[in-house]
Amino acid sequence: MNCLKPPAAKAGLVLRVPRARRLLGSMEFTDDQLHRYARHIVLPEVGGIGQEKLLKARVLVIGAGGLGAPLLLYLAAAGVGTLGVVDDDVVDISNLQRQVIHATGNVGTPKVESAASAISDVNPDVNFRPHHTRLTEKNVFELIADYDVVADGSDNFETRFLVNDACHLAGKTLVSGAILRFEGQIATFKSYKGDNFPCYRCLYREPPPPGMVPSCSEGGVLGALAGTVGSIQATEVLKEIMGIGSTLATGLILYDALETEFRRITLKRDETCPLCGDQPTISDLSIHAAA
Ligand SMILES: [Zn+2]
Repeated sequence: MNCLKPPAAKAGLVLRVPRARRLLGSMEFTDDQLHRYARHIVLPEVGGIGQEKLLKARVLVIGAGGLGAPLLLYLAAAGVGTLGVVDDDVVDISNLQRQVIHATGNVGTPKVESAASAISDVNPDVNFRPHHTRLTEKNVFELIADYDVVADGSDNFETRFLVNDACHLAGKTLVSGAILRFEGQIATFKSYKGDNFPCYRCLYREPPPPGMVPSCSEGGVLGALAGTVGSIQATEVLKEIMGIGSTLATGLILYDALETEFRRITLKRDETCPLCGDQPTISDLSIHAAA
């Protein structure tokens, strides 16, 4: 007789054992959660309080592509409680060189569905919200309303400016990333707070003329660069949620992969900025309607 086997199980009955819970900070963690997030909780800067903030956080990722892939995977693994993604594309085989959230078997399926499957495998506790649509000036406010932080991994200037303007007007923190060829950029924008925090338009006033800056499909991009830049974006999102370290809201990180060089440039609010300047001319998203 196996003495460790409970009599109820032997009799074919289901024995319900309540999952152990422990109080850390103001939140009760299950044993599963304590094990899953142990390497976070042991960090003095994170602890139970920081992990609780992550579990209660809501983050929207724009694009399930090269930057969206590491963003979604690391935010899900970190235990961000509610994770949304906006993307209207389907997985193409040419995406797989860098978009590591998608598998070969998912070619032809919507990227948000492919991402949902991967995230469920990484952390089934995440409340994942796939938004299979294109972000426009008509739906952007409704989409970002439910989230605390927006992480932009889009691949075109129209979306980048739309997200910047919407986040400023709606009062959302924006962590922005961009990649092309061997170079990447990361910045955090929370110009809605004042305090001389700049916005994306303080850096680039308006989108470049069509054709002036090549897209990744035209100019190429080193696949692993997407992992580096997307992972730094994910780190900045986690820091913003937990309120630890220095915010990147006054800085721009430039990464040159060929030279293995990181540079941090200080960004200042431009008082003549049409969005966050002293006399703003952009007070709604109508400028994007004609685009
Ligand atoms: Zn600005």
